[in-house]
Amino acid sequence: MIVAVPQESFPGETRVALIPASVSALKKAGMEVIVQSCAGLEAGFSDQQYTEKGAKIAQNRAEVFAADVVLQVRAAGANPQAGQADLDHLRKDQILIGMCDPLGTPQSATQIADSGATLFALELLPRITRAQSMDVLSSMATVAGYRAVLSAAAALPKMFPMLMTAAGTVTPAKVLIMGVGVAGLQAIATARRLGAVVSANDIRPAVKEQVESLGAKFVQLQLDTAAAEDKGGYAKEMGEEFLTKQREMIARVVAESDVVITTAAIPGKKAPTLLTAEMVAGMSRGSVIVDLAAERGGNCELTTPGETVVENGVKILGPTNLPADVPYHASQMYAKNISTFLLHLVEDGQLKLDLEDEITRDTLITRNGSVVNPRVCELLGIEPPSSADQPQADAGQEAAGDDDAYRIAEGEDD
Ligand code: NAD
Repeated sequence: MIVAVPQESFPGETRVALIPASVSALKKAGMEVIVQSCAGLEAGFSDQQYTEKGAKIAQNRAEVFAADVVLQVRAAGANPQAGQADLDHLRKDQILIGMCDPLGTPQSATQIADSGATLFALELLPRITRAQSMDVLSSMATVAGYRAVLSAAAALPKMFPMLMTAAGTVTPAKVLIMGVGVAGLQAIATARRLGAVVSANDIRPAVKEQVESLGAKFVQLQLDTAAAEDKGGYAKEMGEEFLTKQREMIARVVAESDVVITTAAIPGKKAPTLLTAEMVAGMSRGSVIVDLAAERGGNCELTTPGETVVENGVKILGPTNLPADVPYHASQMYAKNISTFLLHLVEDGQLKLDLEDEITRDTLITRNGSVVNPRVCELLGIEPPSSADQPQADAGQEAAGDDDAYRIAEGEDD
């Protein structure tokens, strides 16, 4: 079985799907690994480092896309424009794995389906213990939370720590984190390490203890949040009345903060508006907002994705790809996640899709020329194919016919 890694083509993307250190695990499982020349350079990994671990270097994209399995950081909807150039390379029985923005850009899934290729979206991994080592959302949110604090510190005309010097005392920066999922927790930890006084707020009540364990203050609002968390641990979409009350209650804390980092998100929905233009007007000149939800509509009314807006002296940063600013470690974490996922699909050197398994089932987007993921189908307004059309779960080694499409034997293409 040949596994290949193309160079990322999304503008500004510096990460790579596999790093040299991850090649050995795939080879040990019986896979041959091909990496497009220079794919890892921007993340700090040379072609030579890959070849030293046993990978082969491909000089062009067609060679890479001839592989049985293609591993990418951004595939399909996560690279909607530049990714079009790869569509001609795709073919039936080929497996694509990467981040695909399946819920934000579901129409891209139909293009992949038309090619006949099988697509897995790593964003749809279930948040279960078994899938933790594959969880790209957590890995990338960790990097983004860390990097957001560094961006804020660099943009702020103040220092973060308290300093007592012969030239007088410098008071510590006040940082407010709104939305304390994985990114928010890492932002709290990073801001604390830099010496800021940190407070945080989230609508999920369980977060309070986590915030306090990191040495930050939880901003408790008198709101009914008992039903704010779903079974999967995600926040539920709250109504406009709730959000209006939330904004009124937290406005004073926002006004007193030097830095506000917002990370609030609802899976598959537009990000909630936590900061209005009026709230921004209430902040001191020089204050900084970093809106990590910029790509999902933004938590601040004034955010422009990918840009820094200055309003009344307040800088509003709308970064859309912070992990690409830390490509070495972001790639290291991503490579561990994606290779663990791939190994999960492989048994005895063969790719074997067990659709009874929720990790495989939840991430599968296209197969046999159709979009099969129920969540993506719903967004597209189409019916998923009936279960009779699905391949047999846990197809045996001797399975024949259509199931063979899902059992790519080692060396089959040799
Ligand atoms: P996310 O990116 O979906 O959202 C970020 C945060 O925004 C969440 O904490 C959410 O509660 C918050 N939020 C939403 N609306 C808000 C509002 N109006 N005001 C303030 N905050 C608001 O979250 P995430 O980082 O993906 O994490 C979601 C949950 O999943 C967390 O409980 C996390 O611990 C859990 N998780 C579990 C696993 C696992 O078990 N394997 C892995 C990762 C994350």
